[in-house]
Formats: sequence, C-alpha cells, structure tokens
Amino acid sequence: MAKMRAVQVVRSNGPFELVEREVPEPGPGSVRVKVQACGICHSDSFTKEGTWPGIQYPRVAGHEIAGVIDAIGPNVAGWERGTRVGVGWHGGHCGYCTSCRRGDFVTCQVAPQVPGISYDGGYADYVLVPATALARIPAELSPVEAGPLMCAGITTFAALRGSGARPGDLVAVLGLGGLGHLGVQFAARMGLATVAIARGKDKEPLAKELGAQRYIDSAAQDPAAELTKLGGAKIILATATSGKAMSSVLGGLGVDGKLIVLGAAPEPLEVSALLLIGGRRSVAGWPSGTSLDSENTMSFSALTGVRPMTEVFPLERASEAYDRMMSGKARFRVVLTTGQ
Ligand SMILES: [Zn+2]
Ligand SMILES: [Zn+2]
Repeated sequence: MAKMRAVQVVRSNGPFELVEREVPEPGPGSVRVKVQACGICHSDSFTKEGTWPGIQYPRVAGHEIAGVIDAIGPNVAGWERGTRVGVGWHGGHCGYCTSCRRGDFVTCQVAPQVPGISYDGGYADYVLVPATALARIPAELSPVEAGPLMCAGITTFAALRGSGARPGDLVAVLGLGGLGHLGVQFAARMGLATVAIARGKDKEPLAKELGAQRYIDSAAQDPAAELTKLGGAKIILATATSGKAMSSVLGGLGVDGKLIVLGAAPEPLEVSALLLIGGRRSVAGWPSGTSLDSENTMSFSALTGVRPMTEVFPLERASEAYDRMMSGKARFRVVLTTGQ
C-alpha cells in the first residue's frame, strides 16, 4: 500500500504528531484529493483543544484545503481526476433534513460535516471528502492563495454578499487578521464604503493598501463614536474573536444596521436592548457557505485581485505553524504546503 504523511492531534488538548498512514481509498460519493496546501484557521483549535463535541481522536485537522482530485469513488458524477479543487468548512451534509431539502446545506441539522472535525482534514498529503464539498479552483489562483479562501475568504465574502449592503453603503470590518484582511479587500471591491477597525496606528497603511477608505485605531479612538460621525454603519463585519471588542462597536451601527458575527469569540456579547429597538439594529451570525459559495469566492477573487497574504510552512512543521496562528502575530494567514 502507498503511504502518506499526516499530522494528527493525538487526543483532546494533545500534541500534533507527524505520522505515516496508508493512502485511503474513496468510498461511495467521495473523492480523494491530493493536498497541495492547507490554511490554518483559528477554528482548528476546536480539534486541537477538544472544544467541539464528539470529535474522535486521533484526528487530522484542516478545512482550508487546496489540491487536485486524485481518485474518484463509486457513484460520483461530474468530477474528473486532475481537476484542481478546494474544500472548506462545509464538508458535507445529509441531503434529507428540512434545511437540505430547502437547499440550505450549510445549516444541515442531521449530519453537517466539517473536514478536520467530522473526518480527517487537510494537514496531510491526501484527504477523502464527499464530492458535494468540492469547489473548482480558477487557473489564476495558486494552491497557497486558494486554501485560505476556502474558510477565511468564503466566510467574509458570503457574509458581505448576503448582508443586504449595497454599493456605497458604509461597511466596517472589525479586526485585521486572517478573516479581516480578506473582508476589507472584498468589501472595497464590492463597491462598499469600507472602514477597517483594528488596534494600533501601525496597521493603518496596510488597511488602506487592502482597500479601506478609512481606518479607525480602536486603541486610540472610540470606534462606535467614529462610525456614528460617518453616519453609522450599515454592516459591521466582526472578525475579531473578542466579545468585548464586538460589544464596543455596536453603538456605531446606523439605522437598520447589522453586526455580523464571524469570529468565534469564547465570551458573550453585551448589547443594549434600546440600541436594537430604536434603530431596528440587529446582531446576526454567518456560517461559512456551500461549495458553490467557495467557487464564487474564488471567481470573484480571480476577477478583482483579492488575495490572501500568507506565511507558508511545510507540512512537517504544522505544530509550529499552528502556534504562529494562535499567537495572533501571523501576517495574515498561515498555510501548510505538502510540496506536491
Ligand atoms: Zn475556518
Ligand atoms: Zn441535512
């Protein structure tokens, strides 16, 4: 049997371990993807720290996968070997629950699947995924560019696209990390009046370079007051993983404004009832998107020049790469490559 490398989390809160495994064969409805790159997402900490219920260990993390279809299982139509594909957070669904029957696969209530959580993910040379989770990668994007678009990218792109914001509307992006630096680029290229909010004056030039018209330094200014001066935000895309930071910008929402929560903050948000009532403001979340949303995210990126900024590590240094992501210091997405 052919062998491959995989980096598995041994147990909840256990270390990463580089192991050799047999290259797996795809079952019905599945394909095998030869992994070229896999982004490291903050949500990989669910697998590393065991904070997602029901994970079976050892487990290989990773849901920002970019590669090539390498083998096709029985009962798979419409895909061919050699096609460049990405796989993101949405890694499969039941197909028969109320959400799925409505075509809303992301909110599948019976068997929502996530690579790296429900089954082994992309910190490996090969991964098996349901064909329903595949997104075609356009020729303009390299594997290292495509990987982060499969979670950080699609989440910000689809949330903005579905937000109701129209060209010229004031949209703020809170946080300039893995998600935020893509959110700013998408918002600007969608024709939205884009404001970036982050801590420290030093991030302003980068925010402007990514396309933000304005920058608010939350360490020196009150973001809510600054947004109010600008007329109030139609949308605030909250990518920071801090409930406190999200709560502090709510006052900057305009009439009918909406805070969209993307960052999985461990602590709750605090929100004034009167603020919500008075201006019909709202707080909502947005969960990634389907494989077609991923494909749309990549097409839009190819068309408009949106690209993730990345720090690349070889697969065998996954543990170090993960620590780099968790440190919050990465500029801006850490990506593993297999050399394939
Ligand atoms: Zn993710
Ligand atoms: Zn379902």
